[in-house]
Amino acid sequence: MSDHRVVIIGAGFGGIGASIKLAEQGIEHVILEKLDDVGGTWLANQYPGCRCDVPSHLYSFSFALNPEWSDSYSLQPEIWRYLKKVAVDHGVVERVRFGCKVDAARWDDEAKQWRLETSAGSMTTDVLIVAHGFLSEPSIPHFEGIETFAGQVMHSAEWDPSYDVTGKRVGVIGTGASAVQIVPEIHKQATSLSVFQRTAAWILPHRGRTIRPWEHELYRRVPAVQRAVRGFHYWSSEFLAVPALMKPAGGKLLKKLAVKHLETQVPDPELRAKLIPSFKPGCKRLTPSNEYLPAIASPMTTLVTSGIDRMVPEGIVTADGVTHQLDVIILATGFRVTDNTFPELVIGRDGRTMRQTWDEDGLGAYNGTTFAGFPNFFMLAGPNTGIGHTSLVYMIEAQLPYVLDALRLMKERGIASIDVRPDVQASYNELLQRKLSPTVWNTGGCKSWYLDKNGFNTTIWPDYTFKFARRLERFDVESYYQELTPTTERKLAAIS
Ligand code: NAP
Repeated sequence: MSDHRVVIIGAGFGGIGASIKLAEQGIEHVILEKLDDVGGTWLANQYPGCRCDVPSHLYSFSFALNPEWSDSYSLQPEIWRYLKKVAVDHGVVERVRFGCKVDAARWDDEAKQWRLETSAGSMTTDVLIVAHGFLSEPSIPHFEGIETFAGQVMHSAEWDPSYDVTGKRVGVIGTGASAVQIVPEIHKQATSLSVFQRTAAWILPHRGRTIRPWEHELYRRVPAVQRAVRGFHYWSSEFLAVPALMKPAGGKLLKKLAVKHLETQVPDPELRAKLIPSFKPGCKRLTPSNEYLPAIASPMTTLVTSGIDRMVPEGIVTADGVTHQLDVIILATGFRVTDNTFPELVIGRDGRTMRQTWDEDGLGAYNGTTFAGFPNFFMLAGPNTGIGHTSLVYMIEAQLPYVLDALRLMKERGIASIDVRPDVQASYNELLQRKLSPTVWNTGGCKSWYLDKNGFNTTIWPDYTFKFARRLERFDVESYYQELTPTTERKLAAIS
């Protein structure tokens, strides 16, 4: 049984960032990572065309800018290499236990510690930082007969890089952000492509470009210039996107842009009609691409809008009775976000799992980070920290000072456990839901992974992101129940 001050779960952006900041403060910790390398989502997602639709200069740690980005919107291999380099340069890799899966985490209220059961044995920790990522559990819908399909079935987030689609008849299910990136790449290699669309997506023009050698040289020599470019991306997306998404009438300009893009790229009016979504742009994540619509309009692609009835050995049978002959089916069907299994593994102070508390009391966190009844537990990229218009790395970095400040206060004041007060958490969530109710994410007429089964938006941060960062600059210990360590209690008793 190993004993730690802090255990971090996950070695993606969140876990790596947390480890760097903890190490700077000399706080002992270990990272548990179920995969065999660092990178999190950027290691798991290796599908063709995988890239980030947030500008490269913004999609990185503020303390580790990368002057070498080759494209203004980086591809997955480059983002993964960046993360790996940051982890190596900051000594994070030595603190990771790879291939270590957490099976259970139970709060021990007597010891004021978390007891973990993992694939590498049991361990205890005073503080648990969960950075498992909310897009880490593939959603595999149940299709009747899927097990009878004679070809290969792959989820986008479980892509086998050795699989070659050249010369294959490929079916892609889904038209979300992952599919929009996969489809154009597959289209270049496959013999035929069938895209199974349940709901059309708004496609915006993509502004990506190769970064020129002289720009690299400039960023290397004068990092302030890269910082200014990063600032430009950050502030322009805040002040353009947030008001458009927050107001019910917002999004008109986005719609105009997307419709013009569609008209330019898809000449056939019948096909165009199938590609126009019925919901407002922004209700689901906006998907920029200059290659998706031409790939759909290509003669070798079939856009299938009749629903999937079942799978058979030869392919997919749709509701109109047509059998689509396929060699491989790609499930670009997204992730289990509000219903992922991680909360079932975590047992809090009152013996209930986090899932039970969410089901019974409603899903929600305080400051997207802490949960009433789960002491000394911090989640990075937790509920209502999601954003579509800017970098999630910004949100994660905004959480780190909060966690670090909590640990500092606990040490200075001899606090054994902190647990957010349920009334504080409840009023925080009421405020969030009030702010969310008129926004496009709630009222835009779509069904997205932002909403839970009760229609609550437990995913999105409904304001400027700098306001989130400001909220979390300081740990508001007064919002938490605190229990002192026995030593502190003895000292206080001796004084009084
Ligand atoms: P997604 O946005 O949830 O899309 C899933 C797609 O699968 C939807 O089109 C959905 O249709 C379809 N689908 C699900 N179940 C189905 C079923 N039973 N039958 C038919 N169709 C079904 O998932 P995603 O594309 O993987 O993206 C998830 C998130 O990952 C994004 O929102 C984004 O945050 C992140 N991501 C980011 C980037 C980036 O560049 N930063 C790239 C990729 C992904 P319906 O719409 O009808 O439900």
